[in-house]
Amino acid sequence: VLLLAAGADVELLLAECRRRGIGVVPCEQGGELVLTVTVTPAAAALEALPGVRAVLAPSSPHPLVDRAGPVEVGTLRIGGNAAPLLIAGPCAIESAEQIGAAAALAAEAGARLLRGGAYKPRSSPYAFQGRGLEALRWLREAADRHGLAVVTEALDDESLAAVTEFADVIQVGSRTMHAYGLLKAIGRRGLPVLLKRGMAATIEEWLLAAEYLLDAGADGVMLCERGIRTFEPLTRNTLDLTAVAYLKEHHSLPVIVDPSHGGGRRELVPRLARAALAAGADGLMIEFHPDPALARSDAEQAMAPAAFLSLARELVAQPMGVER
Ligand code: PEP
Ligand code: MN
Repeated sequence: VLLLAAGADVELLLAECRRRGIGVVPCEQGGELVLTVTVTPAAAALEALPGVRAVLAPSSPHPLVDRAGPVEVGTLRIGGNAAPLLIAGPCAIESAEQIGAAAALAAEAGARLLRGGAYKPRSSPYAFQGRGLEALRWLREAADRHGLAVVTEALDDESLAAVTEFADVIQVGSRTMHAYGLLKAIGRRGLPVLLKRGMAATIEEWLLAAEYLLDAGADGVMLCERGIRTFEPLTRNTLDLTAVAYLKEHHSLPVIVDPSHGGGRRELVPRLARAALAAGADGLMIEFHPDPALARSDAEQAMAPAAFLSLARELVAQPMGVER
């Protein structure tokens, strides 16, 4: 916004803007005439234009997001120039044995964070809802046995209290990205957060959700692209790698890609995972199951152990995650 000097020759200023390829729209702001800049050549010296008193930069709607950078989880550093992080595990924690086997596989694959839902946001109230508190205990125990950190979803205030006790990173699900009251409550817990993108959320809405978390006190936010709903019925979602490229160019928060929910089909995971790393993702979140045929949620996208291990080995020849 260009503020005008007292007695400025507006016609002269407009002509000068036109001559230099600067697009401006006259507007009223606080009772005075100002010019809002819509197009400006990179090197244009706006302050030097005749009749301009001051140039105001637009204020960002998400100042904390704009300043946010890499995230630290224990001794692990995510984002910036750290090697890509692998987060892996089953969709849901089903039993102590299942998550125990998954933790061993995740560690063998080079994952540093173990995932698994104890509280599942299911489309149907009759579908498996997760094993709750006992599952969190199994998850924590299994992770500790293999030196893994834990990320798991909080759905509401009640599950948040339990999750906070057991998790290193709190996951916000796609369905709750817009639950602003919950975002504030999660932020107040002061842990790092993995923020999944709402399935129909714009990038800006997603960043504003991250701003809610940071403003409330979250110890860093990782953005997780997990696919958006489009007109395409053959795949569960459409993985938006354009968003990944955009975020990597314009922001410094870590970006994690979830190729499992992104396509919703296990055979697509390897290609989507490679593409995500090529687009600049700071990490991947991959679902697998010790026995996919038995999976109680998201069975179609669960990788089998052998396929998961070979993908992980291929993706990152060097150890994943970087110690701070
Ligand atoms: C999940 O990670 O299992 C999950 C429920 O993901 P989303 O919120 O992205 O659907
Ligand atoms: Mn899932």
